[in-house]
Amino acid sequence: MTAINISREACVARDERDPLRALRERFDLPDGVIYLDGNSLGARPKAALQRAQDVVAREWGEDLIRSWNTASWFDLPKRLGNRLAPLIGAREGEVVVTDTTSLNLFKALAAALHLQAGGPNAARRTIVTERSNFPTDIYMAEGLAQWLQQGYRVRLVDSTEELPAAVDEDCAVLMLTHVNYRTGYQHDMAHLTRHAHANGALTVWDLAHSAGAVPVDLHAAEADFAVGCTYKYLNGGPGAPAFIWVPQHHQEHFAHPLTGWWSHARPFAMAHGFSPCDGIGRALCGTQPVVSLALVECGLDVFEQTTMAAIREKSLALTDLFIELVESRCASHPLGLVTPREHARRGSQASFNHPHGYAVMAALIERGVIGDYREPEIMRFGFTPLYTGYADVWDAVGILKDILDRSAYDVGAERSAVT
Ligand SMILES: *Cc1c(COP(=O)(O)O)cnc(C)c1O
Repeated sequence: MTAINISREACVARDERDPLRALRERFDLPDGVIYLDGNSLGARPKAALQRAQDVVAREWGEDLIRSWNTASWFDLPKRLGNRLAPLIGAREGEVVVTDTTSLNLFKALAAALHLQAGGPNAARRTIVTERSNFPTDIYMAEGLAQWLQQGYRVRLVDSTEELPAAVDEDCAVLMLTHVNYRTGYQHDMAHLTRHAHANGALTVWDLAHSAGAVPVDLHAAEADFAVGCTYKYLNGGPGAPAFIWVPQHHQEHFAHPLTGWWSHARPFAMAHGFSPCDGIGRALCGTQPVVSLALVECGLDVFEQTTMAAIREKSLALTDLFIELVESRCASHPLGLVTPREHARRGSQASFNHPHGYAVMAALIERGVIGDYREPEIMRFGFTPLYTGYADVWDAVGILKDILDRSAYDVGAERSAVT
């Protein structure tokens, strides 16, 4: 079936057959909105409202400080980490939900450099990553390298093809984002990790656009460390704490400079001098934003109703459909697909460039199709199988076509910082 022959009715029929369809009811989305930005801020699980009410009114309001124990506030980072673990191929006791992705990356990178400094590759000084990586990842790596001095530096590689050769005898750590935030390109994690290890480097993977979006198996890939977001595909809420994965075999030697009391062996001994706890608790630092942290559970609850395999199957079907429809129905317009067509290399988004990408995206948002824009010229559409359907894809492309056909966008529009 070519895209030309796909009808809206066919998309509606596909929605009716969709095994994930019922999960749409677990989310609250405003009427008249087709939300294609769950890769930036996931939609709100309906349950989050009640959970927030409960945490604020009962746990905080009534139980007060007792809630650290009675409501298990202390255990939340580990408990949520254990619930998130199966989504990324991690095991019990290897993940905590805490801090921000930027901070967790700092901890993981510091620990990886520390591990290398104590071994046969102690002379290595380079952190290798891609110039196209999300800026905060590069900023954090550069900040750490400059802080350490001793010749540490970040090497930015310009293309994926150049990555293997960049893992040379000076490379201590290969730090990559698994799915690129702008293009949606998905790396072969197992292959690159194997290559890094064969050449004496450790790997740190950022799963910001992978967790809850694509199947990830950190153990099968034999990765060393990983971090990621909960407010994107995991629907944890704006600014929800991030996660960090430290596999059991690295925990004993996991050391970083953010040695706050939550990673102390006996936090309430209020002892002089730091001695780290055992296990994944070493990745913690200080007191967490409990209200926000608690809401992460509502997003994870939804994932327990399905599997990443089912999510992936629908994600590829949605992005395939979107690409086919854009390329057939908007064929006369200067749109270029930026995201890989090859399934194995594609995340859960489809990005197109257009010379007036910013203005076209602003017009789309005005019409209720919420995607976002990333420099240069890229319109980014995220597809979240838990709450996006095939008819949504059809309707979004119809609105895009209408805007382009009528040139109904304002090229002179002021650029705002948000979306
Ligand atoms: C979204 C994203 C982040 C966000 O980091 P924060 O510290 O949570 O602001 C970091 N890295 C990547 C690759 C991202 O996509």
